[in-house]
Amino acid sequence: SCKENKEVVTETDVAVYLNASASVNDRVDDLMTRMTLEEKVYQMCQYVGLEHMKHAENNITAADLEKNDALGFYPGMLSKDVAKLAAEGKIGSFLHVVTPEEANALQELAQKSRLKIPLLIGIDAIHGNGLVSGSTIYPSPISQAATFADDLIEESSRQTALEMRANGMHWSFTPNIDVLRDPRWGRTGETFGEDPYLVGNMGVATIKGMQSDDFLGEDHVIACAKHLIAGSQSVNGLNASPTDVSKRTLFEVFLPPYRRAVQEADLYSIMAAHNEVAGMPGHMDKFMMNDLMRDRWGFDGFYVSDWNDISRIALWHHVAEDFKQSIEFSVNAGMDMNMHGPVFDTHLIELVNEGKVDVSRVNYACSKILEAKFKLGLFENPFVDLEKAKAVNFSEAHKKNALEQARRSIVLQKNKNNYLPLSAKGNEKTIFITGPNANNQTTLGDWVSPQPEENIVTMVEGIKSIGETNGYRINYYDSGDRSKEITEENINKAAYLASHSDIVVLVLGENSFRHDWKRKTTGENIDRATLKLSGNQMKLADKMFAIGKPVIVVYVSGSPIAEPWLEQRASAVLNTWESGAFAGQATAEILFGQVNPSGKLPLTLPRSVGQLQMIYNHKPTAFIHKYNTEKKVPLHPFGFGLSYSKFQLSEPKVSKTIFSGLEDEISVTIEVSNESNVDGEEVVQLYIRDNISSYTRPVKELKGYKRVLVKAGETQTVTISIDAESLAMYDADFNFVVEPGDFTIMTGNSSADRALKKTTISVNEKLVLDKN
Ligand code: BGC
Repeated sequence: SCKENKEVVTETDVAVYLNASASVNDRVDDLMTRMTLEEKVYQMCQYVGLEHMKHAENNITAADLEKNDALGFYPGMLSKDVAKLAAEGKIGSFLHVVTPEEANALQELAQKSRLKIPLLIGIDAIHGNGLVSGSTIYPSPISQAATFADDLIEESSRQTALEMRANGMHWSFTPNIDVLRDPRWGRTGETFGEDPYLVGNMGVATIKGMQSDDFLGEDHVIACAKHLIAGSQSVNGLNASPTDVSKRTLFEVFLPPYRRAVQEADLYSIMAAHNEVAGMPGHMDKFMMNDLMRDRWGFDGFYVSDWNDISRIALWHHVAEDFKQSIEFSVNAGMDMNMHGPVFDTHLIELVNEGKVDVSRVNYACSKILEAKFKLGLFENPFVDLEKAKAVNFSEAHKKNALEQARRSIVLQKNKNNYLPLSAKGNEKTIFITGPNANNQTTLGDWVSPQPEENIVTMVEGIKSIGETNGYRINYYDSGDRSKEITEENINKAAYLASHSDIVVLVLGENSFRHDWKRKTTGENIDRATLKLSGNQMKLADKMFAIGKPVIVVYVSGSPIAEPWLEQRASAVLNTWESGAFAGQATAEILFGQVNPSGKLPLTLPRSVGQLQMIYNHKPTAFIHKYNTEKKVPLHPFGFGLSYSKFQLSEPKVSKTIFSGLEDEISVTIEVSNESNVDGEEVVQLYIRDNISSYTRPVKELKGYKRVLVKAGETQTVTISIDAESLAMYDADFNFVVEPGDFTIMTGNSSADRALKKTTISVNEKLVLDKN
């Protein structure tokens, strides 16, 4: 009979979980039934890569280990012990594996274990797979946000996923969708800036690019939104220190990018934050992790801890007695994986046996991690072909995107009497370049290992090659860079050389390059108590201005620089942020007019640290009163950036003035005319204000933008649509609603009032988008 036949087939068939044509759900279920509690818990354990550990074993002293928990290495535990655990199937995931050879070697270890479950290998591929030498280094997130070009970011994320997979990595700890509200935070360059909508768009683009179609197959990776939540507004600007914001601010400012990442991009993993919010450490915040993200907003993936942060619930936050109790609180709140180290497994197994953690938490975590491994195709083949890695890294299409992003991310902040572009017409023939970021890899930003020199165009290299073809002589002098201080003697030498040149290009800024650990001036765990230029840079600049030659300032920095006096004296200021492998080329193309600048500031540039919190989307009363010794306007507003073209933007025209019903849309059209003889791209921005609301609302909020190419003398029509979400806010009960009343619609090419033209639309009845 049929029944007998079926039984025969089942007995001789391979296990369901090993059958590539079975559904992912069936494979997960089958494997789960074969696993012991212990084996399930092991899947929740992540360790740092062995090469990384070996490096530490060779370079870190016992005293370092004692005092620096941030390094995260465990005295008494060496790379060989970790290798043994991997071979016993006691590790589910690794991070910071930086070569395909090591990825393969680790997978080989895992194949020795009883169930041969492949490893999930994670890495911080923040703007390209930068920790791997030879990767394409795209501009850092703050630069990417300055492009206002989501499509380029989605494409580079897809390319990054390809480079990762070719190198044996499957999971990127990106996007960072922390909404930046305090630029003292050294991680500013890792963020997409201060605006929740822009951050949300960039986050969604990154996740879509990386995860693509449910990350099925061998070309995609899992994304990880981080850090839940609000570490970008700590009380003193320091990393991992407490945040104390209201529930309303969380919902209006910090959480929207997370909701959108889950609902618009099927985000599969989230990293908890180092910090506490209002007394609750991120790693045990059940409301955030479970009630809000999972139950209310539908997050259906898994959580990973940040580096050692579960143990810090006890160690740093003092709200648990020890590591074991920290694990209890964290896993019960929704945590699914521990980054990184031993003992997590033994404690968690005990906690389950003692009834302090329900086994359903372990089952959930393990099945989600396994689901990822099945979808990624790791059970079919956990190894990578080393030749493929070489072919995919830094390939042509990837380089092209990196250059396109760089060109669009650079912001022209000042251009006195149209000093730029340089055009070799007059007597100015010799350009003198100096400054700490002129001729090195600072342009690559954080989360990048030193890259092969031939892959990188430094500022000096770019300006030299393009300048010379434009008839200039280029003269570079190293007046002190990120490895040595700018001395008095160097400044004098630079002054002498500058006085024998016609134009000075000063490449200034900060340094987030992680391999300059001791010389970093910004980046993770290097926060800034001032937004002024560090070290002797201003002394160098003062001397250059004193000579009287035109000075072009080029900033390289993930964090904003507040030097109003310097900007006042400069002939031009180009803010290049951290524009990646082709920073020097893109900058030179802009200086010499081959590319028309079009980047826009993704955050407000304050004049001084004392002005903080200086954001464009502030509440109505933020600047009613004045400071005694400082202006209350910023150095440059959010959304601002100059062009070589002269654009005129029309009044906004709305398709209708009454917005009615959840599904309604109003389209807003703006005519953009280029009244110059140079083609250029402009970023048209749409802001909204809720005129009268039940709780105070910002004076304006970005709700749409479009980058458009307008040829010289031509006009383009741009359409941006407004939907219910563009008008929504949280009511007293934290329902997401649109309140009836009038809304001001503002359009223009920056957030400054003088750049905006207005119209009004109305809503007649309350709309509920998402009920609490
Ligand atoms: C950072 C995370 C990062 C992790 C792994 C932590 O210190 O906060 O953003 O993903 O290290 O490198």
